[in-house]
Amino acid sequence: MLNLFKKDKEIPKEITPGISQVKHIIAVASGKGGVGKSTVTTNLAVALAQHGYQVGLIDADIYGPSQPAMLGEHKAPKGINGSISPLEIHGVKFISMGVLNPKGGAVVMRAPLATKAITQFLVGVLWGELDFLLIDLPPGTGDIQLSLAQQARLSGSIIVTTPQKVAREISRKALEMFENLNIPTLGVVENMSGFTCSHCHQTTAIFKQGGGQSLGEELKVPYLGAIPLDPAIMQSGDDGIPVVIADPESHSAQCFQFLVQKLIGTIDDLQKNYTMLEPEKMQVFQDIGKLEILWKDKSTTTVDPYTLRLNCPCASCVDEITGKRVLNPSQVSIDIKILGARNIGRYGLAVNFSDGHNTGIYKFKNVKSLMNQNDELSV
Ligand code: ADP
Repeated sequence: MLNLFKKDKEIPKEITPGISQVKHIIAVASGKGGVGKSTVTTNLAVALAQHGYQVGLIDADIYGPSQPAMLGEHKAPKGINGSISPLEIHGVKFISMGVLNPKGGAVVMRAPLATKAITQFLVGVLWGELDFLLIDLPPGTGDIQLSLAQQARLSGSIIVTTPQKVAREISRKALEMFENLNIPTLGVVENMSGFTCSHCHQTTAIFKQGGGQSLGEELKVPYLGAIPLDPAIMQSGDDGIPVVIADPESHSAQCFQFLVQKLIGTIDDLQKNYTMLEPEKMQVFQDIGKLEILWKDKSTTTVDPYTLRLNCPCASCVDEITGKRVLNPSQVSIDIKILGARNIGRYGLAVNFSDGHNTGIYKFKNVKSLMNQNDELSV
């Protein structure tokens, strides 16, 4: 049994709500539903806890939560001083709409409310100190994924796919979305990769094999490994006892342990390239209305408010369908100022302008290149 990274449990300090004391937040995503994303999240979380890490899990699948069933815990969580105390089972703290919806009926909620629920899971739960907070996302590339990337600084994403072409191609979209948001892809997991008959011991690639690995190679992201199609994985999910606990010596459990080992080995290294694109420090000079950004790569950018305002990417300045700019430059004063600025996730910048406009999210890389062009033009 691998035991390379066992950690001593530390004495917990005061438990605070929110994610400020979480070391790594990891989104587990897929393009399609039903590929085993929740199963992989559950087993990864429990396997990390087995190695002594402090682990949390957010079930962000608001409309189809499966973590209460897979973890085998359906109790309603307690409220403490206006915050929610997460449930804890198999060494993992978790929260899910499935335990907050006591009647267990269908959750009928418009997207803005669903994204509010995600905010609540991030800021209103007593997570305290955690090494890892895994987020089991709903399938696809919608509002919940974007809202999460804007509200939390993610250490990375894990993309779960099954080997066949149709799943693989949709996973590519999820991968592209995270890359676009400057979130490192920690790796691709190929689930349901080959079934071994317990009688004749012959392996059949029911959904083909190698799709996850080739996707990783093609997009130059790490391949974390494969999980077999195994009735015991399904059964342990239905029983609420993840296979890494139910049968730790089984081949399937060992495959999950291998994923954990690979994840731990790469997560810190992978941060570097992506971190360079983020600000280390931002300062607004209120008197002249300019913003200065010191980037983590130690370069600096002085942001000209007029240029930035003219290039606002928000839906009222750019037609979302045609991509055409609808903002009339004559409506923007040449003396416009920046009054405030803040980071959005690890990819963007939001700005308050003196004309009251504040809805644009500028990608860091666009701010950099826009201001570089501006400098070249003014030379
Ligand atoms: P998703 O989160 O992608 O919608 P789930 O994790 O809910 O998918 O898995 C869908 C179904 O497939 C569940 O019944 C689960 O137990 C089963 N399943 C997932 N992975 C495997 C596997 N490797 N072998 C057998 N059954 C699996």
